[in-house]
Amino acid sequence: MLKQLNSSITLRRPDAIVFDTDNTLYEYEPANAKAEKAVEVKAQNLLGIDPDLYHATYQKSKKEIKSQLGATASSHSRLLYFQRLLELLGFKAQLMTALDLEQTFWRTFLANAPLLTGVRELLDDLRFHNIPIAIVTDLTSHIQMRKLTYFHLEETFDAFVTSEEVGADKPDQRNFELVLKKLGLNKTHNVWMVGDNPATDIVGGKSINAVTFQRLQMEFEQGDGNCKPDFIFNHFKDLHECVLNLFESSET
Ligand SMILES: [Mg+2]
Repeated sequence: MLKQLNSSITLRRPDAIVFDTDNTLYEYEPANAKAEKAVEVKAQNLLGIDPDLYHATYQKSKKEIKSQLGATASSHSRLLYFQRLLELLGFKAQLMTALDLEQTFWRTFLANAPLLTGVRELLDDLRFHNIPIAIVTDLTSHIQMRKLTYFHLEETFDAFVTSEEVGADKPDQRNFELVLKKLGLNKTHNVWMVGDNPATDIVGGKSINAVTFQRLQMEFEQGDGNCKPDFIFNHFKDLHECVLNLFESSET
């Protein structure tokens, strides 16, 4: 069910809807776990590394890259994680192996990341009713484009922004301002922001005066304080129903 948390809002037909990608359009964690496992197995086969050592070193490598790069797109780069992993394990610059592990990671990830039920139907209906739709997502453009292409959504959106383009992850306001600019809109328009992460999607959505919707899932609690969304929902069919009702009332 779609639940309204902010009673001061009356929903109207939106001028555009902006979507996060990871954990909003599909479940991130099951895909990530399978991909990490596939890389672990491959690294063990290729390099003969003890599983415990591999595990500890991978965590260390991830932590180092994240602290080195801060909240930027490349702080999520698996290629950098695997490169550093190999360095920390005492190998010299093993570029082919790093690339190979990265390919294994994303190939496995994508094969295990189905689009959530109801997403395609909602997006198709929004397009049918001429509501512009856009993506604002963290991580590098290459992999996020690959994900959307894998979902067969490569020609669905009117605008696409990654944190690589603006140089900083959400909630940096530049991500949200850039998507408005690409859509030819501004903060006075009736834009909706749909995402799973209160601290990034909801806060960022608010920074451009968007009506904010949090998809509730396992990783994050319902946002509170300045992260509090205007609406929460569990299933895309709930958001879809709400949108259909608005279309009906605006057409009669
Ligand atoms: Mg997300």
